[in-house]
Amino acid sequence: MATVEELFGINVFNDSVMRQRLPKETYKALHKTIDEGRRLDPEVASVVANAMKDWALERGATHYTHWFQPLNSVTAEKHDAFISPMPGGAIIQEFSGKELVRGEADASSLPNGGLRSTFEARGYTAWDPTSYAFIKDHILCIPTAYCSWGGEALDKKTPLLRSMEALNRQAVRILHLFGRLDATRVTPTVGPEQEYFLVDKDLFDRRSDLIFSGRTLFGAKPPKGQELGDHFFGTIQTRVQAFMADLNEELWKLGVLAKTEHNETAPAQHEMAPIYAVASVACDHNQITMEMMKKVALRHNLVCLLAEKPFEGVNGSGKHNNWSMFTNTGYNLLDPGDSPHESAQFLCFLAAVIKAVDENQDLLRASVASAGNDHRLGGCEAPPAIISIFLGDELTEILEALEAGAAYSGREKTDMTVGVHALPKFPRDTTDRNRTSPFAFTGNKFEFRSLGSSASVSDANVVLNTIVAESLRQFADELETAEDFRKTLHDLIVRTIHDHKRIIFNGNNYSAEWVEEAARRGLLNLPSTVDALPCYTAEKNIRLFETHRVLSETELRSRRDIGLDSYAKMINIEAETMLMMARRQILPAVLKYAGALASSVNAVRAADLSLACGNPLVSSLCAGIDALNDCIGLLSDTLSAKPAAEAPEEAARYMHDKVLPVMAALRAAADRLETVTDREIWPFPTYDELLFSIQ
Ligand code: ADP
Ligand code: MG
Repeated sequence: MATVEELFGINVFNDSVMRQRLPKETYKALHKTIDEGRRLDPEVASVVANAMKDWALERGATHYTHWFQPLNSVTAEKHDAFISPMPGGAIIQEFSGKELVRGEADASSLPNGGLRSTFEARGYTAWDPTSYAFIKDHILCIPTAYCSWGGEALDKKTPLLRSMEALNRQAVRILHLFGRLDATRVTPTVGPEQEYFLVDKDLFDRRSDLIFSGRTLFGAKPPKGQELGDHFFGTIQTRVQAFMADLNEELWKLGVLAKTEHNETAPAQHEMAPIYAVASVACDHNQITMEMMKKVALRHNLVCLLAEKPFEGVNGSGKHNNWSMFTNTGYNLLDPGDSPHESAQFLCFLAAVIKAVDENQDLLRASVASAGNDHRLGGCEAPPAIISIFLGDELTEILEALEAGAAYSGREKTDMTVGVHALPKFPRDTTDRNRTSPFAFTGNKFEFRSLGSSASVSDANVVLNTIVAESLRQFADELETAEDFRKTLHDLIVRTIHDHKRIIFNGNNYSAEWVEEAARRGLLNLPSTVDALPCYTAEKNIRLFETHRVLSETELRSRRDIGLDSYAKMINIEAETMLMMARRQILPAVLKYAGALASSVNAVRAADLSLACGNPLVSSLCAGIDALNDCIGLLSDTLSAKPAAEAPEEAARYMHDKVLPVMAALRAAADRLETVTDREIWPFPTYDELLFSIQ
């Protein structure tokens, strides 16, 4: 059996393969493109394409694809064989530089939010040489960006790359002010922890709700949920362990640094965390991870659920986006460090993040908005829809002392003047971790915990990179013209703390008091996707994204509309699925049971045992059936009354305000019946089976 070292990256056209297989000059030229964003010479592209093809053929590939990330949060691929006809009926296998660099995808069915009409369906894919090509199922996958004829981004990759550039430009300006002239590039790093559920495929196949929406739309609570806390970090079930081993192997082959695996809080819930990587690569790798989780699960007769809230009553799944910034010289800009010099720089970057989060709560909330995630956020198990920052007591005290111009009376007595005196050392492994915060400082990085488990990490990181770039831009503008750099810096940091400290909250984010307190502080509370997504096109946000050349107004509008449109469509699918299950499965089953119950009661009565049982049973069941039937009628009417051909925002609003509450009522009626109906007659597997059957 191959060792992990032998397996790792075996299906990736990575740097060492390139070094081995490319002529020196080509390798150097390609690196200039990768490292410095230089334009790629067509001749270089031809040589790379040929080397890539030879390598792929040796590894059994037959096709290539431009692998991209359209605006619906999945990945798209269209396969082309390498074959070319030869005289005499033979073929050769070819792959040109042109085919590597650019593809034309007639992808008219992919969402574009009005950026293209179907008669102008041309979209272009352009090779992103910063992310390695890889082989998946005999297909050479070339990571690409996807844009329209007019150059508008139709994907999640392009704005991510642009936002990384924006952050780089501004962060380097700041570093140069600190005299770090060797720092020529700053890159955001991301480590996304991925949560997921596994259910048995035989059970899954019997539930239309799981099949169509990825989450249960019905299901009464089982006697046991997660209350004993016996699943989190518990011994991993044998079948799950076999899945995890297989998953790791597949991910390692694809160069994904799969590192941590464990059982999560809810029964049947698990997590995988990779070692962090450059944001764009982490984003590609997370897409690959989600795909592999689904594929590998099937090999074990399991289904991997990535929906944010597959089950009521137990925790849902999120994706924790650990984020930091590194220089090309290897410094983590969010590492507090030991020396005063580094501390001043650290405080400057920290202040930039605090300001960015406070000023752009709306964008951060919008970046994690989806129908699925709405069920999770604020569910007393995931951060609320209110964005705030957890800094920990020590760092908070330091900032407070700075603002007050007072001596810091923490572990070490230090006069807090930035850049003159040392910051006390931070405990690297902060003991006071707060798992309820949406945006937590965890020693040398921030952890943005509000992302949904099925989302691409792109949206959140596009926002993070851009808003921090904007803070840094304002800082750099002020500092570059300062006569006394140290004093201006000190004042700037103190002013920033003063202006933005309302965003810092170290308490329990799940509590009802926080909702009130946050309102007093004037923090935004955008409970649903319908409240959040329209923020993308607020005046301030258009200006922000255009200033940093990350997204144009048209591109923002398309993203907002696609998000709202998917939201409305998702809820429509769920409502239709509920109607189907309620009418064709639940109602017939319960009627059958009511009939059986009634005749049993009659039989018992005929035998003159009527004292022991009686009509209340039958009548309460009949009342339940009536209630169910009423809800079916109501949901059906509400769906039919959906206004036709409305704007995405109106459609989403209707689904949220009118349809969701009726869905909840229908569910409640059905769940009540489930608890009093013969188990043998209930038409699909119940929560206890779904959550506890995997050993
Ligand atoms: P926990 O569950 O305690 O939050 P994990 O170990 O599961 O921690 O995940 C932490 C994640 O943060 C990992 O993916 C790790 O690689 C990532 N990470 C660590 N340092 C950085 C950093 N500087 N930038 C981005 N991500 C980081
Ligand atoms: Mg975490």
